[in-house]
Amino acid sequence: MIVVLAGGVGAARFLEGLVQVAPPETIAAIVNTGDDMVFHGLHVSPDIDIVMYTLAGIVDPSQGWGIRDDTTHALSMLATLGADPWFKLGDRDLAVHIRRTELLRAGWTLSQVTDSFRRALHVGIRLLPMSDEPVATEISTPVGWLHFQQYLVQRRARDEALGVRFVGIEQARPAPGVLEALHTAEVIVIAPSNPVVSIGTILAVPGVRDAIVASSAPVVAVSPIIAGAPVKGPAAPLMRAVGLEVSVRGVAACYQGLIDVLVIDRADADLSSDIRASGIDVAVTDTLMRGPAEKRRLAEATLDAARTAKRHRSY
Ligand code: GDP
Ligand code: CA
Repeated sequence: MIVVLAGGVGAARFLEGLVQVAPPETIAAIVNTGDDMVFHGLHVSPDIDIVMYTLAGIVDPSQGWGIRDDTTHALSMLATLGADPWFKLGDRDLAVHIRRTELLRAGWTLSQVTDSFRRALHVGIRLLPMSDEPVATEISTPVGWLHFQQYLVQRRARDEALGVRFVGIEQARPAPGVLEALHTAEVIVIAPSNPVVSIGTILAVPGVRDAIVASSAPVVAVSPIIAGAPVKGPAAPLMRAVGLEVSVRGVAACYQGLIDVLVIDRADADLSSDIRASGIDVAVTDTLMRGPAEKRRLAEATLDAARTAKRHRSY
C-alpha cells in the first residue's frame, strides 16, 4: 500500500503521476476536508472533488478544479434570485454537491459518499476523507476569523493572515480506513500540497500524526515550494502566519520529526545541506509537474527516495 496525504491541486497532479507507476488499487489518498463548506445549502468538499475530478479525467485543466467545459446556468439563476454566488460552482459540479448532500441527509457518512462517487467516476485509487466529522479551517485576519474559503475565494487573500485554526478538530476522529491505511502502509507520501491548510489539517486529526510516527514505513514529502515560492495558491502568507520560512527549509521544519526524506526541486539544491543538518534526507529532482511525463517522473523519484531513505524520525 502507498498512502498519500493529499490537499487539492498539487496532490491531484502528483497522484496523476503515481497512478502511472503503481497499480491504483495499491494507492489510498487521505484527503483534507478542512476546506469543506456549505454553499446554497449544499455540502461542497473542494479537495476531495479536485482529486476525484482529476483522476477521473474530467477536471478543468486550466483551473485545476471544477469540471471541464462545465456551464454556470444555475449560478446565474441563483444570482437572479438574490443569492451571492461568490464560490464558483458549475452545473455538473453542482450535481455532485446535490447528490452528496442528499446522501448525507439520508444518513450516509462522507466516506461512504466519497467511495460511492469515486467508483461511479471510475477512480481506481481509494479516496479517504481525513474525517467524517466536520472540521473548518479558519484564518485569523485583521477583520476577524474567516473560513478558509472566505479568506481565499471571497476576499481573494487580501487580508493579512495572522494565524490558522481548525474548528472542530478535537472532536474529529480519523475516518474509517485512515488509521488502518497508515498502519499497513509500505510507503507514506506527503503530497506537494499546502503544508499549513491542507497537510496541517490532516495531521491535526487526533491519531493521524501518531500513526505516521509509529509506522515502520518510510515517510517522504514532496515540497510544494519551489525556489522560495509556491507554484500556486496562498502557501506563502499562510506559512508566514504560522512562523515558517517560505522555502524548502520551512517545509522541512514543518515536517520535522515526521518525515525521513524531502523531495526538493533542483532550483533549491543549495539548501540541501541545511535540511540534512536538521536530520531529514534530501532527494533533488525536477518537481514542477506540467505534463504527464513530468508527473510520472516525480512519482518515480518520490518512490525511489522512499526506498533509499533512512529512518530519521523520532518515536
Ligand atoms: P489546493 O487545495 O488546491 O490549494 O491544493 P494543494 O494544497 O494540494 O496544493 C497547493 C500547493 O500545491 C501549492 O503550495 C503549490 O505550490 C503546490 N503545487 C502545485 N503544483 C505543483 C507542482 O507542479 N509541483 C510542486 N512541487 N508543487 C505544486
Ligand atoms: Ca484545498
